[in-house]
Amino acid sequence: MRRAVPIPLIDPFDRRVKDLRISITDRCNFRCTYCMPAEGMKWLPRDEVLTYEEIARIARVCVERFGFEAIRLTGGEPLVRSHIVRLVELLAPLGADLALTTNGVKLPELAHDLVAAGLQRINVSLDSLRRERFLALTRRDELDRVIAGIDAALDAGLAPVKLNTVVIRGVNDDEVAELAGFGRDRGIGVRFIEFMPLDADGQWSTNQVVPAEEILERVHAEYPLVGWPRRLEGHGVEPAQRFAYADGRGDVGVIASVTEPFCESCDRVRVTAEGRFRTCLFAVEEFDLRAILRSGAAPDDLGPDGLGPADSGLAAPDLDDRLADAIAAAVGTKWAGHSIGAADFVRPDRSMSQIGG
Ligand code: SAM
Ligand code: SF4
Repeated sequence: MRRAVPIPLIDPFDRRVKDLRISITDRCNFRCTYCMPAEGMKWLPRDEVLTYEEIARIARVCVERFGFEAIRLTGGEPLVRSHIVRLVELLAPLGADLALTTNGVKLPELAHDLVAAGLQRINVSLDSLRRERFLALTRRDELDRVIAGIDAALDAGLAPVKLNTVVIRGVNDDEVAELAGFGRDRGIGVRFIEFMPLDADGQWSTNQVVPAEEILERVHAEYPLVGWPRRLEGHGVEPAQRFAYADGRGDVGVIASVTEPFCESCDRVRVTAEGRFRTCLFAVEEFDLRAILRSGAAPDDLGPDGLGPADSGLAAPDLDDRLADAIAAAVGTKWAGHSIGAADFVRPDRSMSQIGG
């Protein structure tokens, strides 16, 4: 049977949507202060989380029907979900650019298998190279393992490996150049991220945000950048604005979600671990894809490996059409952009770990 040609999905502001971020779990083995509370997170019951089959079906519909080009797995911590390699095997044949964001702790044991399964690129989060500070930030004493995980990712051939660093005033802003240097030594680009109001404790305030321009100043003072200083403004579809080092040793990026939002070129949508489709990190409206996936299916007995039952309703022939219609309708509501810092900004009632960063 001949496959239909994908029809690009265009939102009301004429942006093509082609990047799918999938949270595969809300659980995590860290408790980063800017993302989760120390205790008391309420986890989704296991049967509310999408099975790997269900995740793969949503991804396939996005790629086959709408020509999505990129899929990124995230969480929570994606590598704490069992049999993650199996999910990568299910997604790799779709042919989209397949990436994952992780805190890195489980990479020493998983990196090679993930690459063999078809994972192409990875972002590892690292906010401090100082043990005490790392412990204070993540509430886990795992700095050495994260560094070992970064090295395992490089060794396994993931390319590119990037570092994600959330910069918070008075917490780790003095380490910006050091972290950039750590990346340069390993041939890794660091992506510095402005602190966003998605912390579970609701403690975020604008004075904790270190503007991207200041971050780049700090890097440039130590490692001169090509074309800096200059005012940050309009950029391509990548949220990170990148600058090459003048000595040719790679680049550094900033994600200025607060001070210079990249909404006008946003091409991404998200699916939460329980199958809610979101058109923006800060969206207040969600669309329930799980209800469609499970309509007609017996409530899932997920089986011992979380992969789902063999005879679920996933075989229903019109399910793809219904998923595609729901996704298209949801994208039809995508707004122009968020308004962090403005009086009308409404914080989503989920933290970053519950949405999928
Ligand atoms: N657990 C994985 C990790 O930490 O890389 C993936 C999920 S995490 C929610 C995805 C990214 O979101 C991480 O790079 C993390 O640093 C970032 N993040 C979490 N909370 C944030 C916040 N309040 N502001 C900015 N970035 C945040
Ligand atoms: Fe876990 Fe990632 Fe959130 Fe840290 S940022 S608590 S590692 S989900």
